[in-house]
Amino acid sequence: MDAKKCLQKLKYVGVLAFATVDGYGNPQIRNISAIHYEAESMYFFTAKGKDFCRELLNDGRVQILGYTKYKEMIRLSAKAVPVCDEDQPKYINMIFEEQPYLYNLYPNDTRMLGGIVFKITDAEIQYFNLGVNPIFRETYTIGNKKAIFKGYNITDNCIGCGKCADNCPQSCIEKGNPYKIQQNHCLHCGICFGLCPVKAIEKI
Ligand code: SF4
Ligand code: SF4
Repeated sequence: MDAKKCLQKLKYVGVLAFATVDGYGNPQIRNISAIHYEAESMYFFTAKGKDFCRELLNDGRVQILGYTKYKEMIRLSAKAVPVCDEDQPKYINMIFEEQPYLYNLYPNDTRMLGGIVFKITDAEIQYFNLGVNPIFRETYTIGNKKAIFKGYNITDNCIGCGKCADNCPQSCIEKGNPYKIQQNHCLHCGICFGLCPVKAIEKI
């Protein structure tokens, strides 16, 4: 798996959930399918008059979620920016050609009057496959985005009692000094964190 494959999978999913932050700091979420994909970037269309557009112009932060029939969760975190004015017609036309149903919504030239395309070129992508045993997760990036590590880590305070490994639902804690979490298979459930008798496990 890699970032490109994640984008391809999002394309197959088709309709994705886009979460933004409104002017009151509240989460807002919509389903979006008017999307054009390139190998390591994505472009999406919306109407200039929608709150969604205003939230993207004011804040820009967006989190995009897709879930495949194979139980793969793909979450992309990014800042969306409008495509430059001179490229807007090109991307609007591209998205409408790929998704002709949009002509029903914006017939004739109304797509050019009311529409705007945003692009995402820098993003963190979290891939989480719940359909395999043990589960598999990995984080990728596109563009200049830096990945942020999340989850749990076992520190040198570990005394090797084995309680965490014995109770891990994914059996993803290896014996050692200290014990070690196999990060690609960790659910982030926190059971080990709660059980460790000497608080040797930290949440990142
Ligand atoms: S429960 Fe804590 S002390 Fe025991 S093996 Fe796990 S990390 Fe180490
Ligand atoms: S957070 Fe859950 S899945 Fe991950 S190592 Fe701890 S117990 Fe195992």
